[in-house]
Amino acid sequence: MPAALAATTDRPRTTAPASPSVRELLARGRRTFSFEFFPPKSDAGERTLWAAIRRIEPFAPSFVSVTYGAGGSSRDRTVEVTKRIAAQTTLRPVAHLTAVGHSVAELRHIIGQYADAGIRDVLALRGDPPGDPKGQWTPHPHGLTHAHELVTLIRQLGDFTVGVAAFPERHPRSPGWSEDIRHFAAKCRAGADYAITQMFFHAEDYLRLRDRLSSVGCLTPVIPEIMPATDFRQIRRFAELSDARFPAALARRLETAKDDPADGHRIGVEYATVMAERLLAEGAPGLHYITLNKSTATLEIHQNLNLNLNLNARNPAATITE
Ligand code: FAD
Repeated sequence: MPAALAATTDRPRTTAPASPSVRELLARGRRTFSFEFFPPKSDAGERTLWAAIRRIEPFAPSFVSVTYGAGGSSRDRTVEVTKRIAAQTTLRPVAHLTAVGHSVAELRHIIGQYADAGIRDVLALRGDPPGDPKGQWTPHPHGLTHAHELVTLIRQLGDFTVGVAAFPERHPRSPGWSEDIRHFAAKCRAGADYAITQMFFHAEDYLRLRDRLSSVGCLTPVIPEIMPATDFRQIRRFAELSDARFPAALARRLETAKDDPADGHRIGVEYATVMAERLLAEGAPGLHYITLNKSTATLEIHQNLNLNLNLNARNPAATITE
């Protein structure tokens, strides 16, 4: 049994995790690599999630993050999963948090719960209107209107490392690039240490965003999000929701492979590996993999890169297990 599994405990940590924060890693000029999970909806989902977490753990990622649910019980599960990662694994969890439907008092309470559990990393997001992500955004009457206010609040409450969202194809509701960049820069001025992008499938979109940010003097590290496009139907739905442009050639290849999951998997891993390689060669400060609570595709991409770029310097012996 790996040492990490043997050392499990339900007792929350009372001190900050020993592994360096994203802020510290980036300040040392180190690349980060990280994996994103979502709160499971069922017992079976919970088992799948924890199997993925345990397979990723030996790779010693810089952090793992847990998305914040749209409401109710899924939010409680976000808090529970994040706290359990802090208490029972060697991983450093980053808690996503949104302003949707929360008063400032509630946000303070959630941030306090994280601090009590030894969690020192929060991804500060506005969130989308519940029910219709593309609908009109209405803030809670005693809440926050934009993500930069949440960054300020988290900063006021303790020495957290704070991340924010960035959009290589600009935020779908931004009227134009100049507003988008101005509002992103406000999150950085409020104290964001780094950003993670929305999913995208054209490396040029990331590179152009970085140029736009540096042209206004905003040098906050922006970590690209890597989504392995292995399943045609699923990825089309995600791309529609996030307004990401999906490459026509990749869509054709995946559609051809739609009845052969192994082939779809190979195509998606190959495309994401090539894009990630390009992004790293262009100086991206790290990679943030979307796992969809599975680990195989993201670990394969990571291992492909590892062979070429020695990315996994902290634990070069880690291998993908079934
Ligand atoms: P903001 O930075 O507030 O921007 C939202 C819009 O408002 C933009 O159009 C911006 O230009 C505009 N704006 C900002 N400031 C101002 C201002 N002062 N005046 C006028 N307009 C302004 N959602 C979830 O529900 N849960 C998650 O866990 C989650 N995780 C995510 C992780 C990543 C890496 C990313 C990229 C997104 C994630 N999202 C999540 C989705 C995110 O909440 C939505 O994309 C949301 O619409 C934008 O959030 P934001 O933090 O960028 O908001």
